[in-house]
Amino acid sequence: MKTVIVTVGKEVLTGKTINTNLTSIAMRLNQIGIDVNRSFVIDDDKEEYYKILDFIDEDLIIFTGGLGPTIDDISRETVINYFGVETYINEEILKGIKTYFDHIDVKMENTNNKQALFPKNSIILENKLGTAPGVIFKSKKKTIVLFPGPPHEMFPMLDKLIEYLTEKLNIKLFSKGFKLVGTGESTMEQSLSGFYQFHTNVNIAPYASVGEIKYIFTSDNQSDLKCSMNEFRSFYKEYIYGDLEDTLEGVVVKKLAENNLIISIVESCTGGLLAGAITNVSGSSKVFNESIVTYSNEAKIKYLDISLDTLSKHGAVSEECAFEMANNLYKKTDSDITVSITGIAGPTGGTEEKPVGLVCFGITYKNDTSTYKKIFNGNREMIRRRAVIYALNLVRKINI
Ligand code: ATP
Ligand code: MG
Repeated sequence: MKTVIVTVGKEVLTGKTINTNLTSIAMRLNQIGIDVNRSFVIDDDKEEYYKILDFIDEDLIIFTGGLGPTIDDISRETVINYFGVETYINEEILKGIKTYFDHIDVKMENTNNKQALFPKNSIILENKLGTAPGVIFKSKKKTIVLFPGPPHEMFPMLDKLIEYLTEKLNIKLFSKGFKLVGTGESTMEQSLSGFYQFHTNVNIAPYASVGEIKYIFTSDNQSDLKCSMNEFRSFYKEYIYGDLEDTLEGVVVKKLAENNLIISIVESCTGGLLAGAITNVSGSSKVFNESIVTYSNEAKIKYLDISLDTLSKHGAVSEECAFEMANNLYKKTDSDITVSITGIAGPTGGTEEKPVGLVCFGITYKNDTSTYKKIFNGNREMIRRRAVIYALNLVRKINI
């Protein structure tokens, strides 16, 4: 099925928004064996839509962006008009949009009515996270899809499109995957080059996010899929923390709960993010005792008796300090495990000896404290996120 993706929006053309929708849609289509022929980015200008629609000859045409309520969002009416299909206003959707506005306590403008316009016999793609529903409709032999721009609104609709295409094209595919931590995408890809050659019947795609990688395996043959996943699992056991639906903090909380272990945390550069991640997991009260943020040296001394000697000789960002933070917290609490994080998240504060991204960790279990030192790359937010993931992974890997 020849496919084209058309991204709409000035924000993409001006470089303000990275066109992640293109990669997300292309990857998902690729997994079910549909290759994207071409892709275009156009301005939200009626003429541009018409020019591109006159030009393309693909059977599956996917638009993303410009579905919203504002004057400059014209994808829906422009594309539907171009194909000259019969339309109607879907009263149920209109009611849903009204309810959405009532719920967020905002007055609904008339321009929102246009979001309830659909071609007859089209498939409506519900939007639970915004007002603009998507749509799949047919015009002669062509299938046209309209998605909104915001990725979080588009993803559930992309799932529906994949379901629709899988059924329509009678694609029998099985898809599963793993989530990994503690390794990088380029390291993995290098080590996997040989692996891919032995599993040509399985599409294996990595999806990297900050500090984590997801590997999704897709195949039309269930036993090939199982075989490749088993082999992958045996090679990369130490990095695999769960299935696609797992979260690292969820896995950590489960491990602690299963072993009746209580954890307490002391954080400096992450300012409570590790405690936040753990307490995000429902049921964390069974395993989470207390957490303190000791950001300044004074706080480290006041709450944890970090020795002046350590602070003056090694500084707050040092394995020595991380050791004392975890160890002293362990002594002061009834916890089974304590974790400490101290580092330089930047962008300022780095030196040649202690660069931005340097983070030290301490972990105490059974009265024994180990320390670790890492240099993370990225901006402040990424460094802090990577530090949280690294600390969670330390807890995940404790030998109980
Ligand atoms: P809205 O109701 O939010 O206006 P919309 O469907 O009209 O939805 P756009 O106005 O095109 O969407 O884009 C809204 C936002 O969605 C953009 O500011 C951007 O943050 C994000 N976005 C748009 N297109 C893309 C894209 N191709 N890739 C990633 N993000 C995108
Ligand atoms: Mg918009």
